[in-house]
Amino acid sequence: MLTIDLNAIQSNWLQLKSLAPSAQIAAVIKANAYGLGADQVGSALYTVGCREFFVATLDEALAARKFLPAEAVIYVLGGIRNGMERDFIDAKLIPVLCSVSGIKNWAKTNADMGLTMPSAIKVNTGMTRFGLDVDEFNVFCSDKNLVKTVNPVLLMSHLACADEPDHSLNESQRETFQSCVSLMRNIKPGIRFSLANSSGIFLGEQWHFDLVRPGAALYGIAPNTDIANPMKAVVNLALPIIQVRTLSESASIGYGADAVLPKGARIAVVAGGYADGINHSLGRSPKGVLDGQIVQSIGRVSMDVTIFDVSGISLSDEQLLQSNIEVINNELTLDYLSRKNKLLGYEVLTSLGDRYKREYLLGVCHG
Ligand SMILES: *Cc1c(COP(=O)(O)O)cnc(C)c1O
Repeated sequence: MLTIDLNAIQSNWLQLKSLAPSAQIAAVIKANAYGLGADQVGSALYTVGCREFFVATLDEALAARKFLPAEAVIYVLGGIRNGMERDFIDAKLIPVLCSVSGIKNWAKTNADMGLTMPSAIKVNTGMTRFGLDVDEFNVFCSDKNLVKTVNPVLLMSHLACADEPDHSLNESQRETFQSCVSLMRNIKPGIRFSLANSSGIFLGEQWHFDLVRPGAALYGIAPNTDIANPMKAVVNLALPIIQVRTLSESASIGYGADAVLPKGARIAVVAGGYADGINHSLGRSPKGVLDGQIVQSIGRVSMDVTIFDVSGISLSDEQLLQSNIEVINNELTLDYLSRKNKLLGYEVLTSLGDRYKREYLLGVCHG
């Protein structure tokens, strides 16, 4: 059972909002809300007042259009492939235009249809992934007609090292962005500006501008390693025990006979294997919590199941078959797992797969 605490996500969103009082706050729900369920997460955040959402792709945006109320503003971070402009216009999506050609295509489609549908423009301030380089941005700004047709309502950039507060690129990206902001402000009054992801919010108010775009912190991932994680935990993963056995002889365990346990050892087989993200998200030999005690997996993780050594557990076989082994909880946290397995919390979450039975917790809303 994968339990996703929507109340915790709402409360994380409200906490981030209070940290950026001069800005508005969106929610990034790309990749199915980092694997947790974009529809459930998006609707829960809408309830507490979130009105702007970022997704990565057109397909994610079209899905979000269905589960979010019509007033929701939906930005698509991956821009537009040439030829898809009409789909964006039909669904009232705001493309984040990331290239000179993307801008030209958006302008052409709008001009052909007699429209000036809103767009967002991304500038590259040091991440070197998406976005116009500053000289391209300057050329764009000098073309008043083009700016008018493209109708940018948001100018944004993305921080590369915001989770390392002392990294010099944070200040350098902020300064570069600030120069683009100053230029754009004169050309397009009323346009808004956005730089910070989750970690960027914690860099301070100078990084907030008009709109902040948290993803990870909403889902309980630590914004940086300098401070104790202030976010509420969102995810609990409990794997049901589906078989128990006590070894009558010393025996090798699982594929490759990699591990051996002595006579008398007891093992529990749980539902959940590498097809469910267990080797990626939890490491090759995950720990679990059973009946308040730490248990260790043993042998290789299989596609659908993982085997745990439960020799030290005093529950009866019948009780075990009614029990779950928790592999992500308040003790085995996302921060702990990502540190231990040298992964990002983002990778842990997005690896979890969709075979788990899911339970969404949602009580009274705080909005
Ligand atoms: C994914 C993404 C975010 C959210 O980042 P987090 O680190 O998860 O808060 C914000 N902005 C852009 C452009 C992104 O691609």
